[in-house]
Amino acid sequence: MKLMLNTIYTKFKEICFLCGNSYKTDTVKIDVYDDDGNNLGSMCYQCFDAKKDGVKKRMGNYALYLRKKSEWLETQAKKDFDFPSKKDYIATGLEEIDVMENEIPPVIA
Ligand SMILES: [Zn+2]
Repeated sequence: MKLMLNTIYTKFKEICFLCGNSYKTDTVKIDVYDDDGNNLGSMCYQCFDAKKDGVKKRMGNYALYLRKKSEWLETQAKKDFDFPSKKDYIATGLEEIDVMENEIPPVIA
């Protein structure tokens, strides 16, 4: 893993790739790269302030959270559940859903 500081000119909301924290970028964004140079996302300022040992702990906590979420999702995906129909959705009076193609998060080897 490599971290690089990049100057940015537009502030926006990000999700920290390392800890899952939602944060707003400042003028310096800390990007996270894998060993092949692929940009995986960014590191939040709380992780930056936590320094190397602190960020390792935050990464470990987030990994545990993701593992539990993954197990829950796998269990739920095998069960049946009620799903709202498009007819019910339209009956709410809201406009039709604008479905965007979701990017599947990268899987780290
Ligand atoms: Zn973070």
